[in-house]
Amino acid sequence: MAFEGLSEKLQNVFAGLKGKGSLTEADIDTAMREVKLALLEADVNFKVVKEFVASVKEKAMGAEVMSSLTPSQQVIKIVNSELTELMGGVNSKLTYSPSGFTVLMMVGLQGTGKTTTSGKLAAWLKQNGKKPMLCACDIYRPAAIDQLEVVGQSVNTPVFTMRDCKDPVKIAKAARKEAEIKGYDVLIVDTAGRLQIDEELMDELADIKKEIKPHEILLVVDALTGQDAVNAAVGFNEKLGIDGIIMTKMDGDSRGGAALSAKKVTGKPVKFIGMGEKMDALEPFHPERMASRILG
Ligand code: GDP
Repeated sequence: MAFEGLSEKLQNVFAGLKGKGSLTEADIDTAMREVKLALLEADVNFKVVKEFVASVKEKAMGAEVMSSLTPSQQVIKIVNSELTELMGGVNSKLTYSPSGFTVLMMVGLQGTGKTTTSGKLAAWLKQNGKKPMLCACDIYRPAAIDQLEVVGQSVNTPVFTMRDCKDPVKIAKAARKEAEIKGYDVLIVDTAGRLQIDEELMDELADIKKEIKPHEILLVVDALTGQDAVNAAVGFNEKLGIDGIIMTKMDGDSRGGAALSAKKVTGKPVKFIGMGEKMDALEPFHPERMASRILG
């Protein structure tokens, strides 16, 4: 489960503060050094860690003594609210088109879980009263189209394909038209991935974006890749512009550094997290719940 290591270390830090009647600056400094180490070990971005610790210290020093809380509880409260803030504060929801027909464009590097997540998102949307359609725009790997069809079947969602067409812009455009005509209200476009961000991929994605004017571009990243996931998010955001991040494989990520750094580094929120391979293993990301989970 995500954040195991960090959770345990932070709890140790706070246990060290327990029982103290009042906290001196030295106590707080020691605790913050340990918090810093714990965050770095969790693979949180270095700059993010520095700012985080400085902000917690400042608030802890300035905090008014509250009779209802012990000093250690007060520090935990501050860390909790700073962690929540770090991850974006509140749950960032999907934006639906006011017209009633929403286009979601899924982008990401190969192997991050983009195709699986497209299916999970369709399942989630159905649960939330929507009528989604999927579209396979990866023209490079026929297996990717097959995979999306399997995924679509398992979540009872139609998949638009044009197997003989080698132009993803055309495919996406045709899918959009078909989805609207057939009365679907969300089109999820699964685009091609690559091993790394390259100009050709970005040009192709930019062309699709221009044609179908998605209401959301969702970047899928793999939490297990830590800061590489954050760097990918920076790259995609600079070159294409993204609206939100879906962080997959959080179920296997004991560190959690990517989820903690992504919003602060990219300015874009994590909207969903993947918690397993099954089609129902997608959850909206709630920073406040995540922070409480970390602090135990
Ligand atoms: P794509 O190349 O980006 O389309 O990636 P895929 O959708 O093919 O996913 C790659 C692998 O990651 C597959 O084996 C998925 O089952 C797995 N995967 C995707 N999301 C998650 C997740 O949230 N948790 C776990 N444990 N595995 C996932």
